[in-house]
Amino acid sequence: MHLKELYRDVILDHNRSPRNFGRLQPADAQAAGHNPLCGDKLTLTLRMQGDRVEDLRFEGQGCAISTASASLMTEAVKGRSRQEIARLYGEVHALLTAPTGEPAPELGKLLALAGVAEFPARVKCASLCWHTLNAALERTPTPVSTE
Ligand code: ZN
Repeated sequence: MHLKELYRDVILDHNRSPRNFGRLQPADAQAAGHNPLCGDKLTLTLRMQGDRVEDLRFEGQGCAISTASASLMTEAVKGRSRQEIARLYGEVHALLTAPTGEPAPELGKLLALAGVAEFPARVKCASLCWHTLNAALERTPTPVSTE
């Protein structure tokens, strides 16, 4: 199977059966994102444990790319710290906008989004969930450091 077909299958699969779809109640933070260029809308709820995202869910309506990207993102960031998520976001951003270098191996299944870079109009569809996640993380209480 070609890499491109594999990527396409991952996108189709996550669009058809999105992971972590729904809403957490109660949640530590939530944020809504909207991509007016395509009409994608999503709401993200998340629960923190200290500095880590313990659990998160998304709901909303969007195109296949935005739904698959949000689904892949929830799987990728669950259990990760803010710092790890910031690094991962940097790698996803590079993959979507400047896919010149070798993609970071820790991207894992997120590599399925590599093809999006060929369609600049769709980059916002794929990055909407990450912007929404960043907004939600900013609204979570920052853990107090005792150091
Ligand atoms: Zn879209």
